[in-house]
Parts: sequence; structure tokens; C-alpha cells
Amino acid sequence: MGGRGGLIMTKGNLALKLGLILGILVTAGLAIATALLICTAYSALTQQTAVTALDSTNIVKEGIARKLREEKSIEIVADFCRVTRETDIESLFLFDAEGRLVASAINGEPAPMSEERGEYRALLGRRGAKVLKADEVGSEAWLISGPDGRQKMRTVVEVDNWPKDGSMGLLVSDVSLGPAQQAARDMLSRTLLSGGAVFILLILTMAWLMERMVYRPLRTVDEKMARLAAGELQARVPSLGNDEMGRIADGFNQMAEALEEKMERLEALATTDYLTSLLNHRGFQERLEGEACRAQRYCRSFSLLMLDIDNFKRVNDRYSHQAGDEVLKQAALHILGNCRESDSVARYGGEEFAVILPETDGSEAQALAEKLRAAVDDQPFTVTGAREPVRLTVSVGVASFPTDSTQPEGLLMAADLALLRSKSISHNIVSSYSALSRLGKIDDPYLLHRYLEEGTVESLIALVEVMENRDPYVQGHSRRVTELALEIGARISLSEAELESLRLAGLLHDIGNIGIPVGILNKPSALTEDEWRFVRTHPPVGGAILNGVEGLQEIIPVVVHHHERYNGAGYPAGLKGEDIPLLSRVLAAADAVIAMLSPRPYRPAFTFEEVVEEVYRQAGEQFDPTVAGALVRILREKAKAPTNQKAAQNRSL
Ligand code: GH3
Ligand code: MG
Ligand code: MG
Repeated sequence: MGGRGGLIMTKGNLALKLGLILGILVTAGLAIATALLICTAYSALTQQTAVTALDSTNIVKEGIARKLREEKSIEIVADFCRVTRETDIESLFLFDAEGRLVASAINGEPAPMSEERGEYRALLGRRGAKVLKADEVGSEAWLISGPDGRQKMRTVVEVDNWPKDGSMGLLVSDVSLGPAQQAARDMLSRTLLSGGAVFILLILTMAWLMERMVYRPLRTVDEKMARLAAGELQARVPSLGNDEMGRIADGFNQMAEALEEKMERLEALATTDYLTSLLNHRGFQERLEGEACRAQRYCRSFSLLMLDIDNFKRVNDRYSHQAGDEVLKQAALHILGNCRESDSVARYGGEEFAVILPETDGSEAQALAEKLRAAVDDQPFTVTGAREPVRLTVSVGVASFPTDSTQPEGLLMAADLALLRSKSISHNIVSSYSALSRLGKIDDPYLLHRYLEEGTVESLIALVEVMENRDPYVQGHSRRVTELALEIGARISLSEAELESLRLAGLLHDIGNIGIPVGILNKPSALTEDEWRFVRTHPPVGGAILNGVEGLQEIIPVVVHHHERYNGAGYPAGLKGEDIPLLSRVLAAADAVIAMLSPRPYRPAFTFEEVVEEVYRQAGEQFDPTVAGALVRILREKAKAPTNQKAAQNRSL
């Protein structure tokens, strides 16, 4: 961070770059100043030459004026030859007032006169750059280019009162520019040329340097910044050296790294349980999906365990919620300690844990689950302030990929149902979803998940229908039980609200059969003790399923207790008499009668008379006597109906 403070304070290469720009500007300024100086000097020299040439021409004019007055015009040409030979004057021409050339000499030799007169006139008329104005010096001077390309100073002075009074001749002289002037001229053009070239070169160099040292790095930083803003947190700028640009790049990289680190920490936090530091629910879901993808791609197996601490509420109630937290932390550590390195342990809910077991099939998973269960059972948990260590047990549900489901949600459903079975059979045991598959087709847990996910009464009723359709003996069972239960309900004067609850409970009373193989439900021979325990789980499992659906709380006890018997010999709670919810008592009677009237693989359907007799016999034993009385009356009425109507009623039951 200190480095970035230096970005402002330290003079680095950027200052050098700015210095370079300044240097270029100064150099360019100097070059321009030099060129201006040379121009001025050249102009002064030219002016000087013009004045000297005029002076010389005036001297010549004085000489010839005298000779002209004395009419020695013949000597003028000789004088012209001498002057053009001995002085800087290269050529002299004398014109009369009509513009006729009277005398001339070029470089010490007389010049041809007559034939080329027109040419001289033209030469005279071709004026170059005027150097002196006539009114400044009384005469004129121009810069002209000679036929050889050299520049000359041409001066013209007037010869008054010649050839006669009142007329005016002209004396024209050409003086070559001096060598100094020529050199200055050359230097000027050379300076301008090379200065311009250097200037352009410097500008190009500077542009290149700016592009390399400033714009290109800035573009890189800009591009990376855009990527970072778009969420690509790995975006980094390559090293740009030690100058300001380098420090900007370093600063950017530090910022991106810090951001990435923070994001990783946030991600980790979002998937970690605050209490136990295990994966939380979200982290677990992600891990499960990843494992399912991996297993699918490489055709591997894996298993899932759901563990729920038994009677955990009692720990909270007896000690305190904080003590409960302590125990939860220890339980998490203990479960983690008894898992393999490759397993993923998560806190799935309050006192529920989930374990993903990669490369593990159903039987291996069952063994591992058993090991975990036993480990928790053997472990004493310490609670601050408690005299004795707390003993805990866990119930476990096992599901395996791909045997039970190939979908993560299906596996979860299967493991959850297996756990519900464990809880319903007895605490502190392990149940596996597929353990009973040899007894018949088990429901596809993914399909069950889809129905339950919708979480509406309609979807649950549809689910019950799907379950009943797998078995011809129970098709339409729930609907028929509901109809009969409602008839009993009406007969014993239940309220409208009670009748509606009875209707829903009737349609959903067997939803807990989810996951129970058809083979068990319809077994022709007597069930084994294990199978029997399994079947007896369906009321509480049904209650647990309904617990997840809004608006069904009231019918949960009705469903949970629909297999209780009036004399207390039923299940799951062994409730007796009026302790059994009234609607459960109605449902139990209707359920039994519909079962008797339906044929089973191991017996034909009971006749009406046989059913009536059985209901009579069981009144006060299996059935509530009031309910049984109402039921007998209904059955008798149905029995009295004409035969064809009776058959229809029988079917409708
Ligand atoms: P079961 O044997 O049927 O699982 O009974 P249970 O008491 O373990 O289960 P139930 O679902 O009836 O109650 C779970 C209890 O777990 C209720 C709640 O107070 C407790 N619990 C859930 N989360 C936490 C937690 O973070 N800390 C503590 N201390 N208790 C929790
Ligand atoms: Mg629980
Ligand atoms: Mg529990």
C-alpha cells in the first residue's frame, strides 16, 4: 500500500517522459529561433549588399555622367569593362531615355549591343524580389536569378538630364551576392531542412515512447479493469516495470487479489455452517450435485447418509440451548472423525447431518452408516455444568447412486424416506431405501420428489393415485375409504369443517406408503417381524410428509393415528378410546371395511353380511362403538338396496 502512496510523491519515468517532451519543444523552439536569426542575418546582409551595390553603381554613374557631359561616350564602354573586371559589379548597362542600350559590359568584356537589345530590355524588365525601395535610397535594387541560376543584386540608378536636359537615362548594374550571403542562404535551407527532419523524428519518437510507456500500459490496465468489473476476478495486469505505470499495475493486481481472496472467503462462508464449521445446507447441495455429475460421467457409484439425532429436543429442554449447541459441535466432530478423508460431511438442518460417500455402493454405505451410528451411541458428550455426560443416538437413512436414483433430488428423497422409516420403526437404527427392493418394485424417489416439491394438496392426492396405480388390489382405495368415511361422518353429525378435514385425511391417509415395496403391502403370507415394523411406519411417515405442506397441519394427527385401535392395540402410539382423534376413529373403521370388501391375493372379498358381522364383533375393540353403530346402519341400508343397486354400491365402496 505504501508503494501506492509513492505514486504521487516520487518522480519516476513519467517525469522523464515529460522532460523529454519539454526537451523536444525546447529543441524545436531553438531550431525555429536559429532559423529566424539566420533569416534576419541573411536579410541584413542582402540589404547591405544592395546598399554597397547602389553605392558602387552611383560612383560609376558619377564617372560616366562626367564622361557623358564631355561627350566621351566611347570611353564609357572601356570604363564599364574595367569596372566589371575590377569590382564586384559583374555587368553594367546604360540605357537612354527611349530604352535604347547605349553601353554595356559583362565581366570585363563589352557586351553585344544591337541584336540583343530586346533581350537586355527583357532582362531589365524581369524583376526579382525587391530589396530596396526607390524612395529609400533614391534608386532601386532587386534580387534576381542569373541565367546560371546564381542570385544577383540588380540595381538601377537614374542618370539625370541625359542624353539631353530634362530626359533621364538608366544605369543598370548586376552584382553577384557575396559568398557570405550565399553561405548564409545555404545554411538557412540546410537548417530548415535538417531541423524539420529532426523535429519530425523527435515527434515520431515521442509518439512511439508515449504509446509504449503510457498508452499501451494504460490500455492494458483499462482492459483488465473491465474484465474485473465483469466478474473475472482472476484478471491480472502483467508486470509493467517500476515506474508509475508499474505501480498502477501492481496496485491493480493487489486490489484484484484482495477482491478474489475476499470473494473466496465469502464463498466459503456461504457454504460453511457457522456452528460446526461443516458444509452447510447450500454447500452440501453443491457438493451433492458435483458428485452426481462426476458419478454419472465416469459411471461410478456413491452413497448418501442422512443422520438425525434422536430426541435432541430433550437435550435443549434439559440443559439449555447453549448446551445443545455444544453437543451439536461435538457430534459434528465425532461424525467427521468417523468418516473417511474423501467423505463430505454437512450439517443438513438443525440436528440433522448428511454425508456424501464417494465410490461407495449400498452395502458399503450401510456398513459405514452402522459404524457411525455405533460410534455416536458409544460416545459420551460433555455439557458444561452437567454432572454426567450426555448420551445420544442417531437414526440413519441410506440411499445410493445409481441403485436408488440417478438424480441428486431423488437420492435425497430416498435417504430422507429411509431416515423417516428408521425414526418410525425405532430410534438408533439404520435403514436403507433399497434394502427391501427384493420384495417388489419401490417407487422412483425422484418422481416422489417431483410430486412433493410442488407441495400442494392436489399434487399429494395425485401422488397417492400414482402409488395406488402400481397395485391393482389397492387402486382407488383412498377414494373409496374417503367416500365411506364421509358417509359415517354425516351419520354422526360432524361439522362441515370436520367433514372437509375428513375428506383430505381420507385421500391422503396412506401417503406414508411411499417407498414401501408393493411386495410387502400385498404379501400373501404373514409378514416377518421386520416387514411388519416397516409397514407400521406408514402413518407417522405420512404425518411427516404432510408436515411439509401448508394448510394440512390439522389432519396430521388424523393420518398419524388412523391405525390406532379403540382398545389400544393399534399403532403407532397404541392410543386408546377417546384419546384417539375422532376423525382417525372414523377413518380407521372406513379403511378396515373397504379393505374387507376388496379381494386380496390371499383371500376373496368379504360379503356385506360378513363385514357387518365383523364390524359388530369389533365394536368397542377395534372400532369406536358409536362409529361402528353408524357404519353398521350404513352397511345394512346398502344391503337392503335392490340387487343391481347393491352391486353398484359395492363397486362404489
Ligand atoms: P426425533 O428423535 O424425532 O428426531 O426428535 P428430535 O427432538 O431430535 O427432533 P425434532 O425435530 O422434534 O426437534 C429437533 C430439535 O433440535 C428442536 C430444536 O430445538 C433443536 N435444534 C435445532 N437446531 C438447533 C441448534 O442449532 N441448536 C440447538 N441447541 N438446538 C437445535
Ligand atoms: Mg429432526
Ligand atoms: Mg432428531
